[in-house]
Amino acid sequence: MALGLPSVLPPSQPSIGELIRAAGPTFSFEFFPPKTADGERQLWRAIRELEPLLPSFVSITYGAGGTTRDTTVAVTERVATETTLLPMAHLTAVNHSVAELRNVIGRLAAAGVRNVLAVRGDPPGDPNGEWVRHPDGVLYAEDLVRLVRDSGDFSVGVASFPYKHPRSPDIETDTRYFVQKCRAGAEFAITQMFFEADDYLRLRDRVAAAGCDTPILPGVMPVTQMRTIERSEQLSGAPFPRRLADRFARVADDPEAVRKLGIEQASEMCRRLLDEGVPGIHFITLNRSTATREVWQLLRVGAAV
Ligand code: FAD
Repeated sequence: MALGLPSVLPPSQPSIGELIRAAGPTFSFEFFPPKTADGERQLWRAIRELEPLLPSFVSITYGAGGTTRDTTVAVTERVATETTLLPMAHLTAVNHSVAELRNVIGRLAAAGVRNVLAVRGDPPGDPNGEWVRHPDGVLYAEDLVRLVRDSGDFSVGVASFPYKHPRSPDIETDTRYFVQKCRAGAEFAITQMFFEADDYLRLRDRVAAAGCDTPILPGVMPVTQMRTIERSEQLSGAPFPRRLADRFARVADDPEAVRKLGIEQASEMCRRLLDEGVPGIHFITLNRSTATREVWQLLRVGAAV
């Protein structure tokens, strides 16, 4: 048996890779591991409020520099054992030796968790700083994909970037390495957030043109405050689209109107993406349920789901 895992494993969960190909469109929600008791209460409130929407799966991120290793594993395990939801754990390579990565993978497997999003992670402190490989670690997400796949019966997803990864010299190189990590064993991908459907569609077209049919789920985060727009470049890798910025600028002094417009804009974008046949939509919730529920409701009213 791989990894020296316990001899009796919990029943295996469905594979997200298979779910996406079979059932689509999937709907999924992303949470981050809390750092405080208040944060923990907020996370579990959001999970309980979103659970009745019957998402296809939920994902739990991995803190910068491996800082939330234990919390990510604990929250993922709790979702697996105490809710009806299908969890996926994010895993990053920063500051971890292969032995440590194997240990985390083994703990996830022991909790019955079968789905992992394998991302390289950013250097802690300065995300744009030099990426230093752990002396006994791995260098790229591609290597992490192989490590997880070789460790057991996991379904592995990867990250994808509509505006290219900031470290990639150009779109072509970015696409080539993305396809390479799919060929290393990734069964699906989730994008960095973006605010124009066309930006996702261009990514999908260039990956398809490179001969890769790995399903790519759009990552969607509704704008609920002007600060998201100001931080757009940092969050998405591109300036906030001019066309939309003008709409938000007109209501910038009214926080409730900004929020309402953000929900409308995210719903319009999701509806267009669904019309374009996306394999699913992955909502970044920031551990709050309201905006996601409102977008969901508008999509249902539009009979898209
Ligand atoms: P990689 O695929 O390794 O790519 C990194 C850079 O190296 C790119 O420029 C790529 O083109 C290049 N590259 C890749 N392979 C090769 C190769 N073989 N040779 C040469 N160059 C290569 N971060 C966290 O810390 N925790 C999280 O939970 C988390 N979740 C995320 C979820 C999603 C959906 C997304 C989109 C991002 C997430 N991130 C998370 C951020 C992510 O860790 C960073 O964006 C990171 O800088 C890139 O990760 P990657 O997996 O795309 O890396």
